[in-house]
Amino acid sequence: ATPMSLMVGVGKAAERGVLIRNGEALEGAQTLEAIVLDKTGTITRGKPALTDVVALEGFSEKELLNLVAGVERGSEHPLAQAIVDGARERLGDDLPEAKQFQALSGRGVIGRVDDREVRLGNRSLMQEAGIDTAALASEAERLAGEGKTPMYAAVDGKPAGLIAVADTIKEDSVEAIRALRELGLEVIMLTGDNRRTAEAIARQVGIDRVLAEVLPDEKAHQVQKLQMEGKKVAMVGDGVNDAPALAQADVGIAIGTGTDVAIEAADVTLITGSLWGVVYAIEVSRATMRNIR
Ligand code: ADP
Ligand code: MG
Repeated sequence: ATPMSLMVGVGKAAERGVLIRNGEALEGAQTLEAIVLDKTGTITRGKPALTDVVALEGFSEKELLNLVAGVERGSEHPLAQAIVDGARERLGDDLPEAKQFQALSGRGVIGRVDDREVRLGNRSLMQEAGIDTAALASEAERLAGEGKTPMYAAVDGKPAGLIAVADTIKEDSVEAIRALRELGLEVIMLTGDNRRTAEAIARQVGIDRVLAEVLPDEKAHQVQKLQMEGKKVAMVGDGVNDAPALAQADVGIAIGTGTDVAIEAADVTLITGSLWGVVYAIEVSRATMRNIR
């Protein structure tokens, strides 16, 4: 490709809000075979809202929500934001504050609220403390089957209930994912969220390959494994967690409304955050390379 034709391609993409870092990235987009999409913030809006509070015997829903919201005040995770906002709406502004707060990446949070040890997160956060989640399992599966993210709550080492949040799918994700498949690309979802929730969302957007329950520092490794299958892979993501995977991919694509860390690690930035930008990038790349052959 001549530098001139690549520059024209980069300019065309920019007109549609797709910022391509250099000619090399534009050339690379033409060879792609698989597109890996992060779920939260990439396929979905990334602004979850509290939907369900399920309390086991010994707790009222309000008590449980009050305790977990106290712990989540210390976290900057979007799930934490959803729980704190939901609690303020239901209980008022006067939430307790946690002591000895700890955030465990990809698993959840722990803290002391009103002199009780409160733990909220996924199943592994419970398992590592030897907390039995059997009493909550069927309810958690039901919530996840609806595409919600259920989190297990434990108080003083005993299961106390479930908190669920739901995110909404961006309005053009379904159509853009269909267009990617029509371009002949394999589309794969990659997420730290639990399998059942991820599969429910995947079904709604027409994705049939899902890599779920992937820890933040394992995302890049998953991209590498796909590359070892012999594929040219693009990764699309928005979070700090996604940055290493964006760097590992043949083409890293950041959601422009996401974190700066992701944007810095990427070759392409989608200004509006719409997945249509991925489609445009590939179309412009293919057209550019066709013209110069
Ligand atoms: P994602 O890939 O969707 O951004 P993460 O890797 O950040 O997800 O988190 C994976 C899982 O760990 C979440 O689905 C949740 O169950 C649990 N988790 C992480 N952070 C928190 C938190 N602040 N509060 C409760 N649960 C959390
Ligand atoms: Mg994300």
